Amino acid sequence: MQLDKYAILGYPLAHSKSPLIHNHAFRQLDISAQYEKLEIVPREFEEQIPIIKDQNWAGFNVTNPFKQRIIPFLDRLSEEAHKIGAVNTIRVSKEGKWIGFNTDYYGFIQPLRQRAEEFNSILILGAGGAARSVLLACLQELTPKKLVVANRTVKKAEHLLDAFHEVIRPGLMTVASSPESIPVQEYDLIVNCTSVGMGESISKVPLNPAGLGSSKCLVYDLIYNPPATLFLEKAQAEGYQVLNGLPMLVYQARKAFEIWTGRGFEVSEMMHFLRSTNHSCCVSGDLKA
Ligand code: NAP
Repeated sequence: MQLDKYAILGYPLAHSKSPLIHNHAFRQLDISAQYEKLEIVPREFEEQIPIIKDQNWAGFNVTNPFKQRIIPFLDRLSEEAHKIGAVNTIRVSKEGKWIGFNTDYYGFIQPLRQRAEEFNSILILGAGGAARSVLLACLQELTPKKLVVANRTVKKAEHLLDAFHEVIRPGLMTVASSPESIPVQEYDLIVNCTSVGMGESISKVPLNPAGLGSSKCLVYDLIYNPPATLFLEKAQAEGYQVLNGLPMLVYQARKAFEIWTGRGFEVSEMMHFLRSTNHSCCVSGDLKA
């Protein structure tokens, strides 16, 4: 029986949960496939991709720092990937064409779908790759009246809003700023798309949540390791609803799995599996995760 081979391309990949998720789903659904890590040293990326193209792969995930650098090597892009300007999933067609998708968009919005109309005022912290998917999803799937992008490097927040001007509907108030200069006001949704709260900055917060937002405010941190960042801990202590990045990780993986195999895995079963391997989800009571 043919074994379809998939991999994640990135650097470093030691902490990637994607092999755990996809290999579990292949086993559960009795699909003859295997998922590996392909760590590529960034300075060798452009040399390595043509070599990988000559091998027999069925698909890939792409993570930092290659989500944009992979684009020149692709034969086609999905509409979302084109608009976002970043790719995290590749399907290799029967003809050997590499088609790029962005499933972070889908993964981010999925836990919010049932509450889409509640978010009138949105604050996005960060202006890197993840913020691009989050911004497009907020613009296309939610109906805010005000949307603020705040980033340490304000120029990047300005560029991000400029890049999406075609999808910003008339009347929507958009602001680019630095986190420190954000006035205390009503936000219904605050999304941390910075890497502050993990790794070297595990003891930092991207913004002090004290006094920000209404009590109904949802504080959504894309980080899933640690399960509760200091930002989420503080936000929860302030009485806000919180959500970490684990459901997003699982939903984006599910979408990628569907793109490759035409089948979907059960999200609740996958969350259960991840919990059994010590990956917990930090979520307030009424949120679907
Ligand atoms: P990225 O492109 O490298 O962007 C990093 C962002 O964090 C930039 O806005 C950067 O600001 C900001 N930042 C970094 N260090 C900072 C510091 N010390 N103080 C203030 N701001 C700082 O990374 P990314 O791909 O967007 O990923 C961002 C986060 O999202 C990561 O934690 C990643 O794990 C998470 N993520 C989660 C999922 C999921 O499925 N749950 C998916 C994708 C990403 P500057 O522009 O000023 O440098």
